[in-house]
Amino acid sequence: MTGFDPIRSLANMRHEFGEHGGVNMSIETSTTFTVLDPATMPDIFSGRRGPETGGCFLYGRHFNPTVYALGRELAALEGSEFGYATASGLSAITCVLMQLVKTGEHIVSSHAIYGGTFALMKDFLPLRAGIETTFVDASDLAAVEAALTDRTRVLYVETLTNPTLTVPDLPALAELAHARGVKLVVDNTFAPLMVAPIQHGADVVVHSLTKFVSGASDIIAGSICGTQELIGDLMDLHGGALMLLGPTLDPRIAFQLSMRLPHLGLRVTEHSRRALFFAEQLDGLGLDVRYPGLPSHPHHERLARLRNPEFGWGGLLALDVGTEEKAYALMEALQNRDRFGYLAVSLGYHHTLMSCSASSTSSELSDADLSEAGISPGLIRFSIGYTGSLEQRWEQMEDALRATKLI
Ligand SMILES: *Cc1c(COP(=O)(O)O)cnc(C)c1O
Repeated sequence: MTGFDPIRSLANMRHEFGEHGGVNMSIETSTTFTVLDPATMPDIFSGRRGPETGGCFLYGRHFNPTVYALGRELAALEGSEFGYATASGLSAITCVLMQLVKTGEHIVSSHAIYGGTFALMKDFLPLRAGIETTFVDASDLAAVEAALTDRTRVLYVETLTNPTLTVPDLPALAELAHARGVKLVVDNTFAPLMVAPIQHGADVVVHSLTKFVSGASDIIAGSICGTQELIGDLMDLHGGALMLLGPTLDPRIAFQLSMRLPHLGLRVTEHSRRALFFAEQLDGLGLDVRYPGLPSHPHHERLARLRNPEFGWGGLLALDVGTEEKAYALMEALQNRDRFGYLAVSLGYHHTLMSCSASSTSSELSDADLSEAGISPGLIRFSIGYTGSLEQRWEQMEDALRATKLI
């Protein structure tokens, strides 16, 4: 706990009224903006005059007023100086890494990360950009320290790892990184509001807004929160990864995301309340469940120190039923027989989603990488939804467990 309250922080912001005084901000759809005084054009292009310094917006791939407003809201929720939104979570991650790390330089990353990020670091960046990554168990501080070299620029972790839900010791990692001039970059997709990594020493927070922030599995988007200098660098006309690689978020989509932020807290709290209930029930039946809200979880105490308790322990839980065959049978019964949820990847949706991590979202990992990350073939990741009554959902779960002889 840090005393930082994301809900207060968002409510304390200067409100962005609509163009005609509307309670909602306007959607600025224009891709280009009129310069009233031609003499200011060179200053606008050089970045000396922006929308808040006597100039104007420039072009839609650069800052857009609606996306800019969403960026300010996201920064308020993370307690960062500045924020901006992108067209996907992976583009936010790619741009941050390309901005902070040059050819010949180095990343140290947790080995338990989102499959796409893993493939980016393991396969794409070495081949296309000459950037190497050393993967470590980020809970092992000695291993992290040993992996840092003179060329390391970024230490990369996820707040809650996918899918085993371990928690890195953010303050300790920040200290290790900062002692060597390395930036700590944290993917906070699994723990929005619950954990505010910047408050624990992180330099940059990235999100896939596709998950809890969208909440409806209908939008792909991402975000970057950090210093004003970082966002300025990312948007630089000559050297900015956001400006030049161009993963621009559509302002219409930025508006939709902004309208979902006021109830993000309510949703996260309910996802968490239900996930804790399921974790306790499954644990009570003697099943192998991983949930950081259970005192038996190895990182329960650590998350207790880092989290904002109002938002619970998160909406994700993992259940290891031993084999892929049993996992498939359970998911099939849960979806097709009991209508408990959907067999689909992704998370943060209002309905429950479930998938077998080893053969889906973590399939970029080799068998050796999978076992090193503790992802067994029978591990099912659940993103617990909030539709239906909790009682009804638990009955469905028990029924499917019985039908597949797991209890
Ligand atoms: C989904 C996800 C991403 C990638 O985000 P997209 O919006 O799909 O590009 C990155 N990190 C984590 C933890 C994710 O769950």
